[in-house]
Amino acid sequence: MSTQVNKDVCCPQCGKPVRTKMWTGISAQTEPEMRARILDETFFDWQCPHCGYQAELVYPCLYHDKARKFMVYLVPEGNEKDLKKVNVDERFPQLHDVKKRVVVSPMELKEKILVFEAGLDDVGIELVKAGIAAAVEEKNGVSVEAGCFCFADPQGDRIGFLFFPEGSNQPMKKAARLFTYEKAMEIAKECKFTPGEDFARVDGLLAARLLEQYQRLPATPATENSSSAPADGGDAS
Ligand SMILES: [Zn+2]
Repeated sequence: MSTQVNKDVCCPQCGKPVRTKMWTGISAQTEPEMRARILDETFFDWQCPHCGYQAELVYPCLYHDKARKFMVYLVPEGNEKDLKKVNVDERFPQLHDVKKRVVVSPMELKEKILVFEAGLDDVGIELVKAGIAAAVEEKNGVSVEAGCFCFADPQGDRIGFLFFPEGSNQPMKKAARLFTYEKAMEIAKECKFTPGEDFARVDGLLAARLLEQYQRLPATPATENSSSAPADGGDAS
């Protein structure tokens, strides 16, 4: 079930109020065209009909894929208080085995959809991403501002990412082998990480925490702790 509301948005350029349709809840099954717009990054595009001003209008919205059993709640940064209003277990007791994530940007929302639709675990993906980002920073002497998962190609044994170096608008394509992801999943398992029943934030900060925790685990003969994150970070074609 999807939810739509109409709100007046004041145009930042001409100051006129614009009646704007907002989707506060999106169902992947009933609104496939909204899913497509999130993936092609036009979902939050906004244009003033009076003066033509264009902007990205990001507002809290809940994306639900019932068939693949995941929900992603976009709460733009600075709106964390909105999140606290949702008490998942009370409002959605039927969602016990549904993955629930909170994200802060349209890019992260898109990324979660791609990860879950590929049948992957986002904790493993964040760990791989953190590893490649660290390798990119070391090799290229740049600071990586953000990175995102793009595709998984099991036949070609590749998981693809895009990284955005600080101060550059040219993203870098990188790929890892599936083995790297499997290794990352082992790390998550050894750290005994579970996202819990509430909307969880699974991001780079969590990956950094898990990697730190993993390095402090006592080494066993079966699991040799490596001092660096799991990554091969090869260049994607
Ligand atoms: Zn305007």
